[in-house]
Amino acid sequence: MKSATGTTTLSNGTLIDGTGVPPVPSAAVVVTDGRVTYAGPAKGAPPAPPDARRIDANGGTIMPGLVEAHFHPTYFNVAALEDLDVKYPVEYVTLLAAANARLALECGYTSARSGGSLFNIDVWLRKAIDEGVTPGPRLSPSGREICGVGGLMDWNPDFRKIGMEGLVLLVNGPDEARAAVRKLVKDGVEWVKTYPTGDAAAPDTNDHHTLCMTFEEMHAVVRTAHNHRMKVTGHCRANAGIKNALRAGYDTLEHGTFMDDEALDLLMARNTPVVPALYFEQASIERGPEFGMGTRVIDGHKETLEGGAESARKILAAGGRLGMGGDYGFAWNPHGDYARELTFFVHYVGLDPLTVLKCATRTGAEILGWEKDVGTLEAGKLADVLVVDGDVLADIRLLEDRSRFIAVMQGGVVKAGKMA
Ligand SMILES: [Zn+2]
Repeated sequence: MKSATGTTTLSNGTLIDGTGVPPVPSAAVVVTDGRVTYAGPAKGAPPAPPDARRIDANGGTIMPGLVEAHFHPTYFNVAALEDLDVKYPVEYVTLLAAANARLALECGYTSARSGGSLFNIDVWLRKAIDEGVTPGPRLSPSGREICGVGGLMDWNPDFRKIGMEGLVLLVNGPDEARAAVRKLVKDGVEWVKTYPTGDAAAPDTNDHHTLCMTFEEMHAVVRTAHNHRMKVTGHCRANAGIKNALRAGYDTLEHGTFMDDEALDLLMARNTPVVPALYFEQASIERGPEFGMGTRVIDGHKETLEGGAESARKILAAGGRLGMGGDYGFAWNPHGDYARELTFFVHYVGLDPLTVLKCATRTGAEILGWEKDVGTLEAGKLADVLVVDGDVLADIRLLEDRSRFIAVMQGGVVKAGKMA
């Protein structure tokens, strides 16, 4: 991705640098050739050259661009799981994915990790974003997801004579798991997304306490992926699935819903980050009925919500790491609502806003493995910056309101917000 040239100074705002330290009032950030060269009290800032561009934060907040750690660019706000795979041809879903990426950037998300994609769309979307063809977050792609035969994502019964043609690679046994990862290597993905467990969405055969892959399959995925310098994550709700994933060497966990003490010990020993994606559960409970969600599914989401909130609190209290990502792309949880996840963690889970912002910036960058370049506003980092008109720590909901964004910058280039 191309960075800016020359100098830009951002001032007249409170700096939240993403590291979790207290905010700096009356701050300035200086950007030179796309990288931060100073971030701190305005009084201590080096003098700017006369031709420097200036951004006035209007007494608001200067913070790192947000990281969406569980992003599905090809999930196009579907109301039924089946629509994730075969509703539209790849040509159309590619256009929808580009629109979702643009929206995410406009919502202040300057980096994102894909949590799985129809076909290989996210790999090529990343190329288009990096080359400036279409705007979007810096994107780490996952390509197709891996699930055991008969598991959560294997929803077409055999009489239909269609498999999972676009979204999922179905595997039976460690050999097929290895083969699926080897296919992804050739497709150019960075993350291998798997389904160790079921979900409240499938109460009959694959609910949130069932397993969808064996430990042997998961271990084969990790061994193969790590050999090729790829990372592995997985949809982990059931307690046994969480432990399988940690013992198999997963790099992150999605959801991490039902953690007992033993799972927490395993997690802490490995310092594995977890992306709970919890607002999804609340949205399912509140809005699911509008879209025909049945009572048993809603009840499962209620149990998942409480289990997930409790686990998230435990993980942070133990000194673990949470990333913020929301699984957006369902009818009840559409693209564009990404920052509702942050509000939810403050108001429902009960975390303080500064901690939630650290999770949504620095921890997100650590999950991506990009912490040397993004996630905080410190000298040397790429200038991925969000400037908000208002005090985000006093009201986290400001991040849900794009009309309050003065600037969304990537590498010092203003890409969205009022100044774009
Ligand atoms: Zn997901």
